[in-house]
Amino acid sequence: MQKRAVIIGYGGMGNWHRNAIQEVEGLKVHGVFDIRQEINQEAKSQHLTVYEKFEDILNDEKIDIVIIATPNDSHKNYIIKSLEAGKHVVCEKPVTLSVQDLEDIMEVEKNSDSFFTIHQNRRWDTDFRMVQQIFENNLIGTPYFVETRVNGSSVFLHGWRDFKINGGGMLYDWGVHLIDQLLQLNKTPVTSVTAHLKNVFSEEVDDNIKLLLEFEDGLSAVVEVATNCFIPFPRWHLSGNSGTAIIENWQCDGRIMQLIDGTEPTWNNEIVYTAAGPTRTMAPRPKTTLQELPLPEVTPDPAIKHYSATVFYNNFLNTIEGKEKLLVTSKEAIRVIKVIEAAFESNRLGHGISCHI
Ligand code: NAD
Repeated sequence: MQKRAVIIGYGGMGNWHRNAIQEVEGLKVHGVFDIRQEINQEAKSQHLTVYEKFEDILNDEKIDIVIIATPNDSHKNYIIKSLEAGKHVVCEKPVTLSVQDLEDIMEVEKNSDSFFTIHQNRRWDTDFRMVQQIFENNLIGTPYFVETRVNGSSVFLHGWRDFKINGGGMLYDWGVHLIDQLLQLNKTPVTSVTAHLKNVFSEEVDDNIKLLLEFEDGLSAVVEVATNCFIPFPRWHLSGNSGTAIIENWQCDGRIMQLIDGTEPTWNNEIVYTAAGPTRTMAPRPKTTLQELPLPEVTPDPAIKHYSATVFYNNFLNTIEGKEKLLVTSKEAIRVIKVIEAAFESNRLGHGISCHI
């Protein structure tokens, strides 16, 4: 039977959910709740039910799912009240601003028959799925460095994202996606977090950030989000013991350079003169020892416009019906929020934090 959802917060992302859900069979957006009257007018013109009070949604038996797409500081209360009222809940990222808040939610979730998930939609990005394939198919051997970056140049932070009280800043905004992706790639514990969080333009929140995460199995990851970068780094740079991979941009231009098995370069003892000066270590590697491979093909079905939403919501509906396991769980989200908390602490103290997350 078709499930009915209500969207709390009908701004940029609330609209995105409504559009995306139009492609999801078995789910319909019935109504919205937003604190701005002009937004409610717009929703009415789209033939959506506008709720005057949040409590009216909780009391509406027609509603199965509450989708929360409000600014980051207001998620917790909506999640808890909705779960307590027996609604299933989808919440935007970052699910909460602290580990304690998420633990409070998980306590309610434990005693509830409802399902709760977090919209970590970037797990289905093409670039990320390529990286997953590179790891899974051992295309660069054992990875030891991952560099994951989102470099923008818009400089200013829009609306509530510029305010601390709303949970603004780039660590919560994009950092949460990049960290979630890393924790999907490497399931071993994070053992150290070092963060440099700059507010280059914002008065209150971080707008240009770099993190170094270390994992128990030896992988180190650089995470960077910039809003003031006019010459971007590649989206991904991956170093493994038998290859290097690069994904340049959102269009997923890139390549893999892989060592050819058993072809070791031989150097004689003399110093080598290169463009870098006299150096054997940095001399160009003989081309015969390397092969270039294209990035793995992970193109989603072009007929599906909102690919990530279709996978995400189909999984949520199937979980509610007992046919699948939830793809994004609060147990996973709490690791992400713990890393974020460690990053704030590292930045405050001015040194790295040892941890076991
Ligand atoms: P937005 O400002 O465009 O929209 C927020 C809406 O919520 C506004 O219409 C506002 O009037 C309403 N609102 C504010 N406080 C409210 C409250 N207490 N109760 C009800 N309504 C309230 O913001 P946005 O960019 O849509 O971001 C919303 C959420 O979505 C944030 O948590 C953000 O991090 C997340 N987000 C996720 C992605 C993603 O890719 N998953 C992308 C963008 C934003």
